[in-house]
Amino acid sequence: MTSLPLIFDAPRRGLPPRHLADLSQAERRTAVTELGEKPFRADQLSRHYFARLENDPATMTDLPAPVRDKLGRALLPALLTEVRHVETDSGKTRKTLWRLHDGTLVESVLMRYKDRLTVCVSSQAGCGMACPFCATGQGGLTRNLSTGEIVEQVAAAARIAASGEMAGGRSLRLSNVVFMGMGEPLANYKRVSAALHRLVEPAPAGLGLSQRHITMSTVGLVPGIQRLAEEGLNVTLAVSLHAPDDELRNTLVPVNTRWNVREVLEAADDYAGKTGRRYSIEYAMIRGINDQRWRADLLGELLSGRLAHVNLIPLNPTPGSKWDASPKHVEEEFVERVAAFGVSITVRDTRGREIDGACGQLAAKG
Ligand code: SAH
Repeated sequence: MTSLPLIFDAPRRGLPPRHLADLSQAERRTAVTELGEKPFRADQLSRHYFARLENDPATMTDLPAPVRDKLGRALLPALLTEVRHVETDSGKTRKTLWRLHDGTLVESVLMRYKDRLTVCVSSQAGCGMACPFCATGQGGLTRNLSTGEIVEQVAAAARIAASGEMAGGRSLRLSNVVFMGMGEPLANYKRVSAALHRLVEPAPAGLGLSQRHITMSTVGLVPGIQRLAEEGLNVTLAVSLHAPDDELRNTLVPVNTRWNVREVLEAADDYAGKTGRRYSIEYAMIRGINDQRWRADLLGELLSGRLAHVNLIPLNPTPGSKWDASPKHVEEEFVERVAAFGVSITVRDTRGREIDGACGQLAAKG
């Protein structure tokens, strides 16, 4: 059988149909009313989805069959289809490749630690920020994810957690969410902030996760950080700095030419001031590029007195890249020099490297 030319199969790229998780409690009641049903049906659906983590209308037997068929079709379309998952770290890290309704592929990663279970979610398919060391950055932006597509990644992780399928001892509930998968979350602000509300609102409005256990990682889109500070949410902010000086940061995080190191740190300081939350500085150690002693000193000086914590991430080299991680002894000296300024600093573990599940590797190869 000959296959059709790709142009005929190519799905239209676009946002998915409306989903319960796109809507606030009030909007859900309106939507249900518009479908000719009583508003309390919205609360029933919400309890199933957010409290019991069910997404198959057929299981919602407290609703009459015709009602659940109608509401299920209208408000619980399948948003994510698992293409496959891979596990590593003795089953404690699990990466899932999802196909979205239009054929777009995205990934999320679930990581079990001693006493927490963290899911790393994607906020966009691809990314438009073009950081040269990041796998996702190389392919450009395909599209924004909808609020429902973001929330479903978290709900899917919570389902796996609840099923006890995750290896590593007694079962844990999903506790942490990091926006460190594909995409720049603050470039998809409206949908990401709605997703944050869904994640933290108590059931049945949302999943009831703790705000402090959610981390928003950004290249440093200053207006986005400012908006987030006004959101009334105390989520943890992580800034992907990667260089203490504008000259180098302009090349590693190209959006630095728009908002420079000083401006990004001032926005992060304001965020810390408003929320009372310490922020993280992400710094990927790239051999011979940003790991010099003088840059460690400059970083220490820059962050001294700020409410910041540095996460050093050994670079996870992307395929075909000329760059590599810094040697261990260089990393150790870098840590000591930054710490000498009274700045708190730790080295991030490198979960999921062998399954391309670590930072910046989520390129959804299909
Ligand atoms: N766009 C957001 C979130 C996605 S990336 C951001 O940039 O913060 C999550 C983190 O992984 C960021 O700190 C990013 O700089 C880092 N990262 C990307 N590629 C990496 C790589 N190859 N090795 C190590 N860290 C990487």
